[in-house]
This record gives sequence, C-alpha cells and structure tokens, in this order.
Amino acid sequence: MDKARAINTFLERVDRFSQIALITDKEMENIFGEEVTMVLTQMEHFMTENRTCSDCGGVCCRDIGCELYAAQFGRCPIYEYRPIACRMHFCHRLDDPYRPLIIELRDVFVGCHSAMDFSDNSNLRSLDSPPLGEVCPEFVAAVRSYTDLVRNGKLRPDHAAQTVCGEAERYRGHCTAKRPPFETSQ
Ligand code: SF4
Ligand code: SF4
Repeated sequence: MDKARAINTFLERVDRFSQIALITDKEMENIFGEEVTMVLTQMEHFMTENRTCSDCGGVCCRDIGCELYAAQFGRCPIYEYRPIACRMHFCHRLDDPYRPLIIELRDVFVGCHSAMDFSDNSNLRSLDSPPLGEVCPEFVAAVRSYTDLVRNGKLRPDHAAQTVCGEAERYRGHCTAKRPPFETSQ
C-alpha cells in the first residue's frame, strides 16, 4: 500500500467533510482513496467468513469505553456509520494471515492522527473517538438511555439498534445542514 499517498489524500480532503465522526463506506473511500478501501474490504471479508469479531462480541469496543457498546447488541449498533478508528483497528486475533496489512493500516491511521499536532482542524479530533462523547456529545446524549436499557436487559437490542442508527443519521444530517460537505467524485 502506498501509505504516504493515503495519508496525504486524507489530509488534503479532511476539511471537505462536514464531520467525520460517523462515517460511511463511501466516505471512507472518498477520504482515504481506493487502496485503503480495497484493504479494508479484504479484511472485512476475512472477518465475516471467520466470524472473528462476531464471535468475540466486541471486546475492543468494551475496553475502549464506547458509549454504544452493549454485549447484547452482538455488533456495533451503528455499523454503517462506525468511526474511522473502529474501521482501521484490528486486534491480534486478526493478525494471521493479515499482519502486514494490519500494520500498514495502523501506520496510515497514526500518520493521519499525528496531524493533530500541527493542525487545529476540528475534524481531526474525530480520530480520537470512540468514546464519542467528546466529538459528538449531542448524539451520545440522544442514545445513551437506549444503550443503558439494552445493557440492563430492559430493551430489545434490535429495537434499540434501529433507534440508535436513526439518531446517527439524524446527527449526520444535522452536521451537513450546518456545514454542507464538498462534493468529491475522486
Ligand atoms: S477487533 Fe478483535 S477485540 Fe475487536 S471485535 Fe474484532 S476480534 Fe474482537
Ligand atoms: S462505535 Fe466503534 S467502538 Fe463503539 S460499538 Fe461501534 S465499532 Fe465498537
């Protein structure tokens, strides 16, 4: 992978987005370029085939203190909009046979993250999430009660996930209304 190109693409484009806390597959491709997307697709295929993350149940989500984590969900309730860090992090369970690609993805992520040291671009702060409370407090406030109810066994996870995902869409729409993103076809 051309890591420098992926990092430069990200840094050139990061300011074109109204927000990058909750991001889609297409936006990932727009912001990092095709090569990163191809690697992530390959990783995702492997994870799905081997049920790596679904069988694990999201230990990394729990350990990082993500506000959206509840074991009962089975997988991220905002999977379509999960943050960049969630998409580019792979634990040791996925090391074999993808260790070289995992290291390259980490390098790209760290390269982008280190731009925070010399830039005050507010979108860059999103690379520090989850937890999501710092970068999108409105969204977390809107969904916290649902995830709490799921954790306590008082709400069906599928119902809650629908609501949480709807709130993610609402948050994204709100950010776009405040600051429409640049269109990019590249
Ligand atoms: S990346 Fe690792 S710890 Fe996180 S959900 Fe997947 S298998 Fe589990
Ligand atoms: S937002 Fe990220 S850390 Fe939180 S549940 Fe989803 S994948 Fe896990």
